[in-house]
Amino acid sequence: AKQQGRNNFQFFALDMTSEADRRSTLERRLTQAIEEDRLSLAYQPKIRVDSGEVSGVEALLRWHDEELGQVTPDEIIPVAEDCGLILPLGAWVLRTACRFSSEWLKESGEPLPVAVNISAIQLNHRGFVATIEAALAESELPPHLLELELTESTLVQNPDRALEVLSTLRNMGVLLSIDDFGTGYSNLTQLKYLPVDRLKIDRTFMQGVVDCEQDAAIVQAVISLARCLGLHIIAEGVESEEQLAFIRQLQGHEYQGYLFSKPVPAEELKALLAKGHLV
Ligand code: C2E
Ligand code: CA
Ligand code: CA
Ligand code: CA
Repeated sequence: AKQQGRNNFQFFALDMTSEADRRSTLERRLTQAIEEDRLSLAYQPKIRVDSGEVSGVEALLRWHDEELGQVTPDEIIPVAEDCGLILPLGAWVLRTACRFSSEWLKESGEPLPVAVNISAIQLNHRGFVATIEAALAESELPPHLLELELTESTLVQNPDRALEVLSTLRNMGVLLSIDDFGTGYSNLTQLKYLPVDRLKIDRTFMQGVVDCEQDAAIVQAVISLARCLGLHIIAEGVESEEQLAFIRQLQGHEYQGYLFSKPVPAEELKALLAKGHLV
């Protein structure tokens, strides 16, 4: 047992070292990637449940690094938040997404609302509203074509600040969504006073709606609650026709998921839209 214990400790120590190594490598490579403009965005369509048309897209961060390979946003974002890179990174995402939607509007004459994920650190930073204004001005994107996705935990972290910033953005015409709804234990009273337009039901609940009664009940309750609050409902992570049928039956407004399309590079999305999926 003693021998075993020592081995375990060694493994543990090794693991810690390699994890710390990976983090510092990530930090160094990410700093470079931002400077050299080597990040990209993938766009995932949002589909109207009633008509099957594309109603907008969500921009999702993608990074392929020569040394590290493909690095997922779930790994990038926490590192960027810890080392202060989230502000330049977040500003880059906003500028790029706004430019994409604006170019599509100019090229096709069709509006394509774009949604961008926002970290708590961005929302709580003094320059946040100015960053949004700059991205809109620079791209000449009408504000109602930009949607910001904020998680419940981001919104309840500093509710007074969130209310102030969201009110300002709402007045500018920007759309606001609560992301990953149902995972954050948010206080419903707080949500009631926040000027948000839309609510995204987390993928983890959608996974179970077909064969887990509890998940089905949660999604049903969330949708009726959202309806009472006058919110637009989007279901995330819809992978099967059965899941879509469930959302349709409950009169959810939009869905996103592999059933229709994975997040794809800008050019691929344009080709998809050109095939006539747009309103
Ligand atoms: P999220 O905002 O909840 O985004 C949805 C995630 O689910 C995306 O993962 C998307 O690729 C994935 N997804 C979409 N449809 C399906 C489906 O049908 N099945 C399954 N299994 N997955 C699906 P991704 O792109 O890896 O992003 C993960 C998370 O990283 C995002 O979760 C978001 O919280 C964060 N993130 C991504 N890009 C950004 C960004 O630019 N800024 C910030 N702050 N966070 C970002
Ligand atoms: Ca999101
Ligand atoms: Ca989400
Ligand atoms: Ca999520």
